[in-house]
Amino acid sequence: MSVITETAERTLIDSIPRGLFIDGRWRDASTGGTFAVIDPSTGEELVRIADATVEDGEAALAAAHAAQASWARTAPRERAEILRRAFDAVTARADDFALLMTLEMGKPLAEARGEVAYGAEFLRWFSEETARISGRFATAPDGKTRLLVMKRPVGPCLFITPWNFPLAMATRKIAPAIAAGCTMVLKPAALTPLTAMLFAQVLQEAGLPAGVLNVIPTTSAGRVTGPLVKDARLRKLSFTGSTEVGRRLIADAADQVLRVSMELGGNAPLLVFDDADLDQAVEGALLAKLRNGGEACTAANRILVHESVADEFSTRLAARVGGYRVARGTEEGAQIGPLVDEATRTKVHELVTSAIEDGARVVVGGSAIDGPGYFYQPTVLADVPADARILGEEIFGPVAPIVAFRDEAEAIALANATEFGLVAYAFTKDLNRGLRLAEELEVGMFGLNTGIVSNPAAPFGGVKQSGLGREGGFEGIEEYLETRYVGIADPFAAAR
Ligand code: NAP
Repeated sequence: MSVITETAERTLIDSIPRGLFIDGRWRDASTGGTFAVIDPSTGEELVRIADATVEDGEAALAAAHAAQASWARTAPRERAEILRRAFDAVTARADDFALLMTLEMGKPLAEARGEVAYGAEFLRWFSEETARISGRFATAPDGKTRLLVMKRPVGPCLFITPWNFPLAMATRKIAPAIAAGCTMVLKPAALTPLTAMLFAQVLQEAGLPAGVLNVIPTTSAGRVTGPLVKDARLRKLSFTGSTEVGRRLIADAADQVLRVSMELGGNAPLLVFDDADLDQAVEGALLAKLRNGGEACTAANRILVHESVADEFSTRLAARVGGYRVARGTEEGAQIGPLVDEATRTKVHELVTSAIEDGARVVVGGSAIDGPGYFYQPTVLADVPADARILGEEIFGPVAPIVAFRDEAEAIALANATEFGLVAYAFTKDLNRGLRLAEELEVGMFGLNTGIVSNPAAPFGGVKQSGLGREGGFEGIEEYLETRYVGIADPFAAAR
């Protein structure tokens, strides 16, 4: 039974702006074109919205560029209070944001509420950081110069975000940019633009001046953002999405030596040692694997378990995974929603099939679910050979492949045998081992005896081909600040 009525869904969808948000105004695309936003749990159209063109992209950057100088001069407190009001508004409208994400992306309402809390927290965190931007003053060692080091906003930014966390992936960029005094153009994922539009409306109501944030949903991502990346008015590109697209954007950004932040793909290992608390490890694996239906860059993609506990762990994990309720996200008790589209479901099933061909054993799940929507059974695969194809690619679905290892050295070697380096998790009661892993695993983030690391107060990001730069924490605002040094003549020169 649905906990939300059809009327409530319709009322919310009808209240969301359908235009592009450029220079503080909602307007149609220059050609009048629109595209459909689909509910992945039914495959049906929710609404049609404006489809930005190359000209619209240029208008958005022109607005961001025009607003930059005056925005950079605003008092930090003014920017902080806009962010704080936005935090209050998103929190007050948590049910609307959650339902919207459930409708356009498919995640269950409970998870969507979790994302609202997480996404809103970036607004509060960077509201607090706004007033702490500072520099330093020093006397040079020879005593002849004074050194003033200051922080300046980078300037107009382009943000490109994915569909899997429609609110949080946007606030993780927008909040520090507002805090630093940057203006911006946001291109949300074409699959999930509605959350970004509601958020833009909230920021407008919170007092964000015209032109500071511009939002241009489009079905022509490359064609619309390409010219912006080459435009000298743009000073920063921050992208969250696949490594494949990120690589291409880094190459394009080289032309004007654009500052870039890249939050790219992952292939997270989750290590379970023979001394682990297995109940805790199973809970951690459920969280790391099934949060967001497995459609997360932080999802545990390779579950590496010591050979002496591998069978028991697989059995216990499968018992829990098999009990998950798969349903439309608005259904009471839904724990896993649909995958975002048919292409994603097809890819997940191909990976499962290839793993079986490679010698894996299906403990639970392993098939698509018939009916409307793009549902897939939560799946556990045991005895997966270490060279199976499924371990080399991001699964992006509710599938947990389990690989047995012999000892710590082999576990570390397996964990590091990937071009990705976003996050790793490990379960062990041995603190020394935990610290060894923290030093030896090639990742930007490490969860010790926990299946979740995302936290607005911590620096999120990867190494190797998982990205460049950090979002959140004290580090997050630095991505939007330039360091400027002013050399000042010795004020006592005349007296010397
Ligand atoms: P994606 O295909 O790379 O798309 C991400 C964004 O880039 C979308 O807005 C997309 O627009 C746009 N895009 C696609 N091609 C482009 C091009 N040629 N030029 C400019 N923009 C382009 O990734 P996705 O499927 O949406 O998201 C899943 C990926 O994101 C996974 O690899 C996941 O690991 C990664 N991710 C990483 C993090 C992190 O923090 N490290 C967080 C979340 C997700 P369209 O919507 O029009 O395709």
